[in-house]
Amino acid sequence: MSAAVPLPAPVPRDHTLDACFLGPYGENDALLEKLMVEFLRDHVYWRRNFHPEDPPAIATAAVHHPDYLAFESRMRRELHLLSAALKKSVPFHSPRYIGHMASDLLLPGLAAQMLTLPYNPNNVSEDAAPVTVDMEVQAGLQLARMLGYPHDPAVPACAFGHLTSGGTLANYQALRLALALKAFPVALRAAKVPEIELPADDWSAFNLSHADGIAMLEAWQHWLAEQTPAARARWLQQVEAERIEQRGMVGFFAAHPSLRVPLVLAPVTAHYSWSKGLKLLGLGRDQLELLPTDGMRLDPAALRDTLARCARERLPVLMCVAVLGSTEYGTIDPIHEVLAARDQSRGRGLDFAVHVDAAWGGYLATLFRHEDGSLRTRAEVAADYVQFPTPAVHAAFAALGDTDSATVDPHKLGYLPYGTGAFICRDHRPMALLAERADYVFHAATPAGYLARYRSLGQFIPEGSKSGAAAAAVYVTHKVLPLDHRHFGHLPRATVRAAEAFHARARRFALELADCVHALVPFAPDSNLVCLALNPCGNASVAGANAFVRALHDTLRCDPAQPLQLKEFFGSVTSLRPEVLGAAETARILTGLALDGSTLECDGDDDRLLILRHTLMNPYLIDHENGISYIDRYFEFLGRRVRALTAAGGYAPP
Ligand SMILES: *Cc1c(COP(=O)(O)O)cnc(C)c1O
Repeated sequence: MSAAVPLPAPVPRDHTLDACFLGPYGENDALLEKLMVEFLRDHVYWRRNFHPEDPPAIATAAVHHPDYLAFESRMRRELHLLSAALKKSVPFHSPRYIGHMASDLLLPGLAAQMLTLPYNPNNVSEDAAPVTVDMEVQAGLQLARMLGYPHDPAVPACAFGHLTSGGTLANYQALRLALALKAFPVALRAAKVPEIELPADDWSAFNLSHADGIAMLEAWQHWLAEQTPAARARWLQQVEAERIEQRGMVGFFAAHPSLRVPLVLAPVTAHYSWSKGLKLLGLGRDQLELLPTDGMRLDPAALRDTLARCARERLPVLMCVAVLGSTEYGTIDPIHEVLAARDQSRGRGLDFAVHVDAAWGGYLATLFRHEDGSLRTRAEVAADYVQFPTPAVHAAFAALGDTDSATVDPHKLGYLPYGTGAFICRDHRPMALLAERADYVFHAATPAGYLARYRSLGQFIPEGSKSGAAAAAVYVTHKVLPLDHRHFGHLPRATVRAAEAFHARARRFALELADCVHALVPFAPDSNLVCLALNPCGNASVAGANAFVRALHDTLRCDPAQPLQLKEFFGSVTSLRPEVLGAAETARILTGLALDGSTLECDGDDDRLLILRHTLMNPYLIDHENGISYIDRYFEFLGRRVRALTAAGGYAPP
């Protein structure tokens, strides 16, 4: 228990961060106000200069009319009510907020979004967004570079990315794209397209590698381009008629009885958007197979076993999802191992897409990039931290460039307003299969051709109309803070360092309060989420520990019935389920907390252990100006609560 607790090196003050946000106290209010006024005026000049000869259509005297005044009063009243109501909002900006995945907003993104709003571009297509639709495609390329995907639109295999309402829809887009590419060679066979070398049977057509699938698509496109217009139309129709997007799941699999509906493999820690995605796509939740983890990181041995079974049973796999920063624990799956397992499976004729759900952890990749885009070694990255990155974490980030697609949420660790998830695929060519109108128009592989094609963005994305202002926010932010360790990397560096300080402080807390509570960090954090498991001394039942953690959380959660100022800190809870954790890990944690494993109920609320969860993304957790550590303050607060609760015994299960 008394193992020396390594303390991170003192954090040097980072002055870039001073200018990045409005700030916990609104310190940068003058800067934001200046920008807002400047660009509002600029917008008005733009309106006036469209046709300066057009006179004002609203009379100058209109402001005095009673109806005008009545409208203004009503508007003001409602806006004041709104503004007052919003005072109950969650104070994401405060370093006292360490609950969910939200924090302050980056000024460049906030300002870009606000300045774009009155222009109201709709990124569904260039007709409605001549400026911001390009920015969205560029933002996709910026993210592609961060991940290590090819990002030069002059290269045929260039990546492509677009924004979505959030990670949920980006994950859904990944499923759609993987299914389109997997099923297309089967459709080509069914349509009996001549002169293209097609796989021998449906099983092998359904199990082409990503590269072979793309080569087949290209071969078909080139062949089609050489046909006469009449033949082209006929063949196009014939192939379209066989596609899964045309026939639907029922029709497609009925037409190919040797194929079963494919599985999607994901770790048990995967976000529930995967379940939603399988329902939405019509694959059904039965097809989502959740794989066990080792310390909340996907267990590669279990993946290999599952793949061997699937190959044996001829059960196709659509995709394997690896999570880069799990929502509940911040853990990072061994992406390199997933890719190795796929290589092995490929040898058995079972192939599938590898998608990285980096909705949370995507921007951590900036820590691993030099300014020229090359990968930093583990030693280079590690110089700034106590433990980060473990060799496995470094290997996972180094392998990102070899995956097929990824989800990244600019509205999480990108510190941007909501409505900005992103889907990025390593090779843009299969996107043709998602086009709503058959997208076989050829553009030379030039940056101009690439951009021109994706200006009809609505063709390719799940949504229709969408915010161009959100795209401007992402693009401008990535220009101000390029996605490498010297620029954007300042932000995740601060959060990972905060997590290391928090981890060290949590272990000291455990020693300091050992007389009244058993406390432990259940797994060393891979990134910037740190959990804390607690059990009051003298209690051996899971129900008792859960009641205690619930009582602690009652003081840490959002409660609109109470004035905000009564709240000292915000935290969140999650749970550890034995079926997710595995027997050995469950035993380790329960023993560490002096809990009796037999008290885990089979059903009811106490079939799992509740733990506190802390998201350490606020950049000001350590206030250098005033010498305040909100991490220390949090643990002092938690210590007081723990002592009060244990003294009162008020946590007893009902
Ligand atoms: C947050 C999250 C999602 C869902 O993203 P939304 O933006 O909330 O739709 C998916 N996967 C992971 C790993 C996440 O953390």
